[in-house]
Amino acid sequence: MSNRILIVGGGLTGLALAAGLRHRGLDPVVVEQAPAITEAGWGIGLSDPHITALDRLGITDRENWARFRPDRHLMFDGGTGLLDSIRYETAMLFSRTDLQQSLYEPIADLVRTGVRPTALTDLGDTVDVEFDDGMQESFDAVIGADGINSWTRRHVLGGPDATYTGVAIVRFHLPNTDPTLKTTALSLDTNGVLGYFLMDGGRKYHGIVMLPGEEDNRRELCAAELASLFPQVTGPLAGFKNLMRTNPVSYYTNIYQAVVDEWTRNRIALMGDAAHAMSPILAQGTGVGLQDAALLAELLTTPDLPVPIALASYERLRKPAAQAMQRKSYEAGLRIGRKSAPTELFPEFVTHDRPA
Ligand SMILES: Cc1cc2nc3c(=O)[nH]c(=O)nc-3n(C[C@H](O)[C@H](O)[C@H](O)COP(=O)(O)OP(=O)(O)OC[C@H]3O[C@@H](n4cnc5c(N)ncnc54)[C@H](O)[C@@H]3O)c2cc1C
Repeated sequence: MSNRILIVGGGLTGLALAAGLRHRGLDPVVVEQAPAITEAGWGIGLSDPHITALDRLGITDRENWARFRPDRHLMFDGGTGLLDSIRYETAMLFSRTDLQQSLYEPIADLVRTGVRPTALTDLGDTVDVEFDDGMQESFDAVIGADGINSWTRRHVLGGPDATYTGVAIVRFHLPNTDPTLKTTALSLDTNGVLGYFLMDGGRKYHGIVMLPGEEDNRRELCAAELASLFPQVTGPLAGFKNLMRTNPVSYYTNIYQAVVDEWTRNRIALMGDAAHAMSPILAQGTGVGLQDAALLAELLTTPDLPVPIALASYERLRKPAAQAMQRKSYEAGLRIGRKSAPTELFPEFVTHDRPA
């Protein structure tokens, strides 16, 4: 069991680890480069194993969270208009803000905002850390939860830079006035993805459009123009597409991914997007990070388990499952962005059958 733990990054997974450690009697230090932990917005889909991870982290007071679980999730083949699959085991869509606040509030006193590490030196029995506010401290373990462009990964573990996945995503919210609508839907083909989830008890659509192509492709299009890229959609997507013509405010993001070989070295480890940033097409990134946090909190508070053994065990237990999910997300992304997908991530999927 370790005493002094530094978490670099106060995103969802860093906050989750801090909450989980406090739940188990340990107070880590969290440094977050942003001047404040700000409202996160948007929706976050969590599958059942991810909700179990919240229980393991002690985040059980979820009664007041706005949520919605659809009765079915329809996956259409955008080329033919036919249904490809129907999922009955659906993810619960939460408000990202509720999740972030529930993770942050119990540990707010542990978070130092506006601070970054500038150097980490692993001395074997401790890690010396220098910060950009001039402080210098020693820790038993340092966990890099610093996101897709992780400083810890690139500067300490020598890990790879993130790679563009060949797909960008646009998100927007719309009101849903049909209380009988319980089904969510997605249409997917090589032109892209049009889909929606439901949140806030079903009163709000969380819409997405995924666009294959180069970075920033079609960034200039508004929601109404994006709707016209999908002339074929049927079923509940047809009504949703019409609503898009009201032109809600939309947010455009290029999607990156990082496949990381080395997650831990002695007393330093990576978690969340720093370790396994993946395409959001399967809506798994945060959930997989919550599973990392739950296991790390358990291992770092296990009596008589030395930190290097705890961290190496964490990598051994979590990496195969997390990388399998990355691979699955990448493969799903290839259905829309095969031409623009980078070959270096999972070459086995792309080198065969790659159109000229
Ligand atoms: C469009 C989109 C939709 C998504 N939808 C879903 C979904 O429905 N379900 C799901 O499970 N996942 C989803 N994801 C994935 C999810 O957003 C990420 O996996 C998750 O937010 C990663 O959390 P994190 O804490 O690891 O990283 P981040 O949220 O990136 O947090 C990292 C934190 O570290 C801080 N930081 C960075 N560098 C430093 C430094 N040097 N020093 C100090 N602090 C630092 C940053 O400021 C940031 O606060 C989606 C992702 C995208 C892009």
